[in-house]
Amino acid sequence: MTRSTNTDYDVVIVGAGIVGATLACALAISKLRIAVVEHTQPLSAPTGDYDLRVSAITPGSRVILDGVGAWSGIDQERVCPVEQMHVWDAGGAGAIHFDSADIGEPNLAYIIENNAIRAALIERIERCSNVQLCCPRDVDTIDVADSRVTLRLTDGTQIGASVVIGADGPRSRVRQQAGIDLTVWGYAQQAIVATVTTEKSHKNTAWQRFLSTGPLAFLPLADGRCSIVWSADSEQADILLAHDDAQFLEALATAFGDRLGAVGATSARAAFPLQRAHAKRYVDSRIALIGDAAHTVHPLAGQGVNLGLLDAAVLAEVLLDADGAGRDIGSLRMLRRYERWRKGDNLAMLAVTDGLKRLFGNSMEAVARVRNLGLDVTDSIQPVKNMFMRRAAGLNGDLPRLARGLSAVSAEPR
Ligand SMILES: Cc1cc2nc3c(=O)[nH]c(=O)nc-3n(C[C@H](O)[C@H](O)[C@H](O)COP(=O)(O)OP(=O)(O)OC[C@H]3O[C@@H](n4cnc5c(N)ncnc54)[C@H](O)[C@@H]3O)c2cc1C
Repeated sequence: MTRSTNTDYDVVIVGAGIVGATLACALAISKLRIAVVEHTQPLSAPTGDYDLRVSAITPGSRVILDGVGAWSGIDQERVCPVEQMHVWDAGGAGAIHFDSADIGEPNLAYIIENNAIRAALIERIERCSNVQLCCPRDVDTIDVADSRVTLRLTDGTQIGASVVIGADGPRSRVRQQAGIDLTVWGYAQQAIVATVTTEKSHKNTAWQRFLSTGPLAFLPLADGRCSIVWSADSEQADILLAHDDAQFLEALATAFGDRLGAVGATSARAAFPLQRAHAKRYVDSRIALIGDAAHTVHPLAGQGVNLGLLDAAVLAEVLLDADGAGRDIGSLRMLRRYERWRKGDNLAMLAVTDGLKRLFGNSMEAVARVRNLGLDVTDSIQPVKNMFMRRAAGLNGDLPRLARGLSAVSAEPR
């Protein structure tokens, strides 16, 4: 592991999760001196059984990970392409089906273990001479002055930079230190994750059933098993977590139905509290927030890390443009360009996932009838479905250069 020896940088990124590590790789193309402060010891790529934390990575995010040189470092045997998606409502017969062939793409997403992505990014960082990985280190205080920002780490080290990026997740210390408020809406739900075997093949398809107590997804894994994400109201989640394996599998089969036949065996389970949260501002003088430090969405649409990767790609473009033009990369004026570019898009996705969560959580009969009709009508209008698919796959919208397969520093192909 590279240790910090220098204490003066252009950019300090706090948090080497998928989002922060991607930004570091994207900026490494320049001459900027970059430090990444991470409070855990980054793990190596998983090799044995699958990790419980997996993400649906969109084709758009794949282009970004490829552009920063990390995609090829992910063990492709552990990457499962998702060609189709089936979504249906437990409170009626409404259903919708998405097929990547309808938008001329080979896949809608890829299911990958978070640690496999993160390990590929860290490996990439370690090969960049202008990036120092400082870990395990924790941020204590941040002081912003006119032209510099100073971070004091909990071990007493001081680091100076032109700009500090908070990529330190939902409980961001950078956000707190900057005094940026967060609007939080608790869902009173937990997402239970586990790896299960199914009698029938998952057919490289993501399956999601909306129950009134929360959505239940079966995501395909490369070894033929499925990773489940069962978002359940907290009381129900506590009961499910207390079950032994046989009781849990029985509850799972009842909740999901028999589309994949019997669910045979389960791994250990883990649970994550769910919330929707949005920072009032993404930037301040010499400070910017990206990824879950700026916004947290319900996992039902599998968008959290994908939004964060777009944040990272946009911020990289803004910083590299400013640096190339000889401007101050930490000035508020510069950073506001990033905020203007990303905040509206993230807010729209927060609203969509929140709306879906509430719509499907409503068990009133009239609402259920309209909801099921809506699903069927949407399913029958192909152009509307295609528009949804392209947007959710990260292929539409105001995309930064990296997400369009271009170099982060210019409009030339990589
Ligand atoms: C059950 C579940 C399923 C999900 N499925 C999907 C999915 O399919 N697709 C998708 O796109 N999203 C999904 N998400 C959302 C996704 O996991 C998050 O959006 C994503 O992990 C956010 O990445 P991040 O790098 O911004 O933050 P994090 O992953 O939280 O990383 C933050 C990093 O900062 C470090 N850190 C924190 N504090 C400090 C500090 N003070 N000093 C130094 N380092 C610090 C942490 O150790 C960590 O490495 C899911 C979420 C859940 C809960």
